[in-house]
Amino acid sequence: MPNGEDILEALRCSIGLVSLIYVCRLYIKLSNFPPTILPSTARTQLIKQAVNDRYDSSHTTEDIMMVTNMIEINKDMINRVLLLSDFNQNIIKLDINHITMDVLNDLILFPFTNICINCTKSLTSYRYKLIHVIDCFKIIRAIAVTAECKTCSLIYNHSSWYSLKNRWRKINKSSLNSALKIFYLCDSFAFTYSAFFDYTCQLLHDQCPFQAFSRILIDRYNYERQNNNINLQPIPLAKLFQSHWLLYQIVCFEFMLGRTQIVNLPVSLNRNELNYHFECYSGWWYHLFTTFWSRHKSIPNIKCCPSDCSRCIIVDGHQKCRRLVCSFKNIVDTSIEEMTAIEIGCPYTPCRRIQSSNSVDAIYCRYHQPSILLSPSLNLQKADDMAAEFSVILLLC
Ligand SMILES: [Zn+2]
Ligand SMILES: [Zn+2]
Ligand SMILES: [Zn+2]
Repeated sequence: MPNGEDILEALRCSIGLVSLIYVCRLYIKLSNFPPTILPSTARTQLIKQAVNDRYDSSHTTEDIMMVTNMIEINKDMINRVLLLSDFNQNIIKLDINHITMDVLNDLILFPFTNICINCTKSLTSYRYKLIHVIDCFKIIRAIAVTAECKTCSLIYNHSSWYSLKNRWRKINKSSLNSALKIFYLCDSFAFTYSAFFDYTCQLLHDQCPFQAFSRILIDRYNYERQNNNINLQPIPLAKLFQSHWLLYQIVCFEFMLGRTQIVNLPVSLNRNELNYHFECYSGWWYHLFTTFWSRHKSIPNIKCCPSDCSRCIIVDGHQKCRRLVCSFKNIVDTSIEEMTAIEIGCPYTPCRRIQSSNSVDAIYCRYHQPSILLSPSLNLQKADDMAAEFSVILLLC
């Protein structure tokens, strides 16, 4: 009996190496069908067609039969040499900078670029961090890789680049355009675009709150036994998911509505920093939104009826399906010339009652506590201004 190398050599000579590998994979895959469903002549025809289409060749039925017969006789050897089916059972470990990665199975989230956006120099000092990616069906182990431009003191990761010194983070279309469809900003978790999409659909169709969605994810991981030893709790997951989903949607929103090439994001996902970011940028988003929709008629190739487009105005409150808001009502918007003062109320979330103090009134926000209302302050004015800004006018077409 000829040895393995002779067989491979004979097969290679008959139809060429590249076609041979393709035929082997097709043959092994198709031989799972019982002959009653896929008789061997039909199988040979399928393989011939597929190989000739793919490599623009003109192998005859006899060529293919000769090769598939030899594969059948040496199935074990072919399987061992060519098939990759044993990869998911294999682990190949690589240690870099104290991080052990499984180069076969771990997702590796490389930075979206190799060169600095600012100075176009090559990035250096790569660092590795073990994180987990939240998907709809499973939690996936991944290695997040960051690289640095020493000259500009900028750090690049999978979805963004940032300056720790100046406390900013930026994202552009190419960093958003992840081939792996994963959104990673910082810390220990990333999310798949598919999980974002899933939530968006549930929000639009069922007004699904973040916490309910987090419970669905956790239940599913447990059911599928796919939690990868990560024990997530609904509330922390909801907070984490909420901040990532909101930032991702805002990036998409800015790219859709304006000519923006780069979107600013907060450098960390710390609660205060996030709130500050949303407060700082709400005016800009309001501007983008109203400008886009009020001029919808002038955008080329729109599908709506030109006479009805942008005619109807719907005034909405705080743009959330369900959220507790402060009970302070005495806030009005007087910025719309055609109308009198419109009562809009305070947009802030009421304070939580804390154990250490029972003086907190849980129906009012931190700016409208009865105790501070006695003395009007700058903060109070700020809350009223914010309320006016939040009274978003949705221009529907
Ligand atoms: Zn640079
Ligand atoms: Zn308030
Ligand atoms: Zn329109």
